[in-house]
Amino acid sequence: MSTPQWQREWQSSITDPATLIDTLGLDPALLEPAHQAARLFTLRVPQAYLARMRPGDPHDPLLRQVLPLGTETEDTPGFTDDPVGDGASLHAGGVIHKYHGRALLIATGACAINCRYCFRRHFPYAEANASTGQWREALAYLRADPSIEEVILSGGDPLSLNDRRLSQLAEGLAAIPHLRRLRIHSRLPVVLPNRVDEALLDWLTGHHLQPVMVIHANHPNELGEDVAEAMQRLADRGVRLFNQAVLLRGVNDHADTLAGLSERLFTIGVQPYYLHLLDRVEGAAHFEVYETEATTLMRQITARLPGYLLPRLVREVPGEPAKVPIPV
Ligand SMILES: *Cc1c(COP(=O)(O)O)cnc(C)c1O
Ligand code: SF4
Repeated sequence: MSTPQWQREWQSSITDPATLIDTLGLDPALLEPAHQAARLFTLRVPQAYLARMRPGDPHDPLLRQVLPLGTETEDTPGFTDDPVGDGASLHAGGVIHKYHGRALLIATGACAINCRYCFRRHFPYAEANASTGQWREALAYLRADPSIEEVILSGGDPLSLNDRRLSQLAEGLAAIPHLRRLRIHSRLPVVLPNRVDEALLDWLTGHHLQPVMVIHANHPNELGEDVAEAMQRLADRGVRLFNQAVLLRGVNDHADTLAGLSERLFTIGVQPYYLHLLDRVEGAAHFEVYETEATTLMRQITARLPGYLLPRLVREVPGEPAKVPIPV
């Protein structure tokens, strides 16, 4: 069988800071700190995502999300390696079951892009991921708890697994009588939209479970025509589409940007869902937008947008039964 197009694109991703800095014609002084920070969490950027950055602009909002900076190597009080308490609720087979009715599966540790602000940048993936052993342990956990109605494939990025393994999983899930929905949390349709191919659509929609896709885009510039076409392919097969974003300093901390993101999402058929306050993970302190600024931004977009284009501003608090809404 030939290698799918998306896997060839994956293999041509940029992983060397020098290539990123050269390609965009950026100041070579960025290189040394980038190398150092990339040792803590490697650089990874697909070409399709790079293509949407403005050459020569060190403040480009897409570049900011992937360029390793020297400041990542500094300690900041209050920023830890497991800010959302995943370690405490992780079950065998890579299942995280924190919320009623929904269980999240750490399907894999791999991602197509390494986002510098990622709260899982220190997560022990090698020890905990569900795909080892043909999903047996994860499926057993889900089967044993009839209160679970929805399975969320997460990671890492679940769509970095190949379609053979994912269809094995979908088949196993569809055979569990109490499950009703299959939800995917993925950034791949945004950063490498050719991932949304026929093989993916087949396992995602080829059973009675209702398919839901929650993509992750933070800035309207991330949503080019190639992404719009990928969303159309999903919508044509009945997949319900939502977006979650993270509020990030220097990326989307302006009302114009947030409003533009919601508008662009709606144009391409995606419902804004969550706007997350940054999880306070080591190495990401420079991305933090304080809660008072966040609520000001929310009030500004509330005054500009129809209610259905407003994401919910939330924070993840360990031990809470759901994402915690921030009063605006
Ligand atoms: C965020 C999250 C979910 C999904 O929450 P929703 O509010 O349904 O989107 C489920 N499980 C875990 C562990 C989560 O972190
Ligand atoms: S794609 Fe998601 S899981 Fe992967 S690095 Fe980015 S934010 Fe983290």
